Amino acid sequence: MTPEFDLIARYFTHAQPNTDLGIGDDAALISVPPGHQLAISADMLVAGTHFFADADPYGIGWKSLAVNISDMAAMGAEARWATLALALPAIEEAWLAEFSRGFFACAAQFGVALIGGDTTRGPLTISVQIMGTVPQQQALTRGGAQPGDDIWISGPLGTAALALAAMQGRYPLDKDALAECSGALHQPQPRASLGLALRQIAHSAIDISDGLLADLGHILQASGLGADLRFNDIPLSSITRQHVADSAIQSMVLAGGDDYELCFTAPSARREQIATLGKQLGLSMGMIGQTRSQTGIEVYDADDRRLDIQKAGFDHFSQPY
Ligand code: ADP
Ligand code: MG
Repeated sequence: MTPEFDLIARYFTHAQPNTDLGIGDDAALISVPPGHQLAISADMLVAGTHFFADADPYGIGWKSLAVNISDMAAMGAEARWATLALALPAIEEAWLAEFSRGFFACAAQFGVALIGGDTTRGPLTISVQIMGTVPQQQALTRGGAQPGDDIWISGPLGTAALALAAMQGRYPLDKDALAECSGALHQPQPRASLGLALRQIAHSAIDISDGLLADLGHILQASGLGADLRFNDIPLSSITRQHVADSAIQSMVLAGGDDYELCFTAPSARREQIATLGKQLGLSMGMIGQTRSQTGIEVYDADDRRLDIQKAGFDHFSQPY
């Protein structure tokens, strides 16, 4: 047995439900259930760019899969299979054990089977490809929003950005406050059940990885629409709420990334149904505004004054890729 093979057997071979042939051959084999489409997506995490190289490996393992499950949720697809391509500078057993524990905790919670991958020496990079299933014609896309749709967010925004800012010394937070918001950064909860429930309800959906304004912007661009938002209706965590008078926090709420909440649009006739769904799923959802046929995004405060979203950091925060 080569050491690599041994390593894969030890750390990356778990139960593989819904799989015809799993880890161990040249390729895995899966069957897409009749009447379904395969939804496929990939997300890569690079040490130093997407996480600190010395970050807790459990969190890195969790997040590398969670961000991919979030993409499935945003499509209304049920995440089922994943592959994992790993570049490792060296084989560190303790790191691998924790990484795989985090990865499989997330896999078990969301019913995803790891069915293959690749392992190579190189600068620490984690690339996960995810595959899910969605009934034909029921996928949620970015381009389906209609004028006058309600715009919803599945949970609090800005918490992950605040944790990152505090860890980088850009925002003062005491230890307890940082502990309270760091879960949002290190262990995001993909809104998988919500994504499935929205199949027959929402007109469009996206997950918020790059910030509300940037990601809602993708829906609006794909749908040829604009939007009016009410800042005060955006769900906040208790920490961001405490500091929300601060314009830096407002920027994090509007433009900070990494929250992995869903942003979706739906007809106003579905308002009560969606609110009930949010309660059933234990989410602090918020209906934050409406789409309109005129393009552009405006954000209004409680007194109906327009916020300067350029100043709020829209440009500063939005990444070019
Ligand atoms: P090959 O040389 O054919 O690419 P490998 O030796 O790279 O085969 O991989 C052997 C088996 O282990 C394959 O089934 C592959 O999908 C799986 N595998 C390799 N690396 C990983 C990994 N990091 N996680 C999960 N499965 C892996
Ligand atoms: Mg290989």
